[in-house]
Amino acid sequence: MIVILEPSLAADSPERTQLLDQLTAFPGIEARVHEVRGAEQLLTEVYLIGNTARLTLEEVKALPGVERAIRVSEEYRILGRHKDEHRVIGFEYNGVSFGQESLNVFAGLCAVDTREHVEIMLKALKEQGQTCTRMGAYKPRTSPYAFQGHGKECLPWVFELAGRHGIRVIAMEVTHESHVDEISEALATTGHPTGVMVQIGTRNIQNFELLKSVGRQQEFPILLKRGFGITLNESLNAAEYLASEGNSRVVFCLRGMKTNMGDPHRNFVDFSHVPVLRRLTRMPVCIDPSHSVGSRERSPDGILDLMHVTAQGIAAGANMVLVDFHPSPTKALVDGPQALHMDELRWFLDDVALARECYLKRQALARSHAAGRKS
Ligand code: PEP
Ligand code: MN
Repeated sequence: MIVILEPSLAADSPERTQLLDQLTAFPGIEARVHEVRGAEQLLTEVYLIGNTARLTLEEVKALPGVERAIRVSEEYRILGRHKDEHRVIGFEYNGVSFGQESLNVFAGLCAVDTREHVEIMLKALKEQGQTCTRMGAYKPRTSPYAFQGHGKECLPWVFELAGRHGIRVIAMEVTHESHVDEISEALATTGHPTGVMVQIGTRNIQNFELLKSVGRQQEFPILLKRGFGITLNESLNAAEYLASEGNSRVVFCLRGMKTNMGDPHRNFVDFSHVPVLRRLTRMPVCIDPSHSVGSRERSPDGILDLMHVTAQGIAAGANMVLVDFHPSPTKALVDGPQALHMDELRWFLDDVALARECYLKRQALARSHAAGRKS
């Protein structure tokens, strides 16, 4: 059961202490307090764990200081949608809004390599009015002999350049909890010129200790990539690890599944799950067409497969796109063959806008159909 406290109840007030005492006085019930930073205000939610079946919503709602109580199903307690639960997870981070109704594009380098490439990328984004990007500093690689990313050494100059080009959020993968501290320190020493959404990659989705430590920090929102070889249910439980530790500012990213059934794409594109995620969970949904398709192949209509699948995901309601670009793909140290070229950025963004318009029209059509049925 989730108990939402009245916003006026101060954290250090005796009324709140009394309420928590009353909640934990129910036999077999443990209470975990979470501060949820919503778009408008700070909410306090108390998760009651244990034998909550014996409690009625009415008796909990009747306690002084309780605004609402919601009975949650066993699955995806925090990030899931529950019966009579219409709240979605919307949050604002460094001036950018994320939710199930918004759309943000994170075009950028798969991996930070040279300062020159980073600068070309950021300049192009600024020219196109973009405020988000992707830049990998810590790269999990299949081979131990492959480039592993520049790590913390590149963070200060990447952050400074990003800030100078008006970037507000950088999606950046972390593979160890120390990376989160390194990012935090580099942002502090450079005076917070930009912000970071920490990314947990597909290979680490069941690294439970990493999930727990990233979930415990409140400084950064989290981009969690679906596991490429596990069920959707298992990936969503990984997201719950983050939220149950206290951070529910989680964006869930589809990036394709590893199976040769998807050949010739690098992964089997799974963007048909965009509406499934929006139905099952309250998280904004991201798509990563680059790691899904993995090549620059195009169909006879001249449209790259990567752009076709992006449009499919957006037309189905995706809220964020993570996409690789590179100024000189043959020189890229990671994933050059799937990178879009700088002169394709405008085309890509225009195509995204068309697909978004299509989604909004489809949403309006569904609403007018539903309204027609009622009348
Ligand atoms: C990436 O986005 O750079 C990446 C490594 O993705 P994934 O974890 O989906 O393979
Ligand atoms: Mn990559």
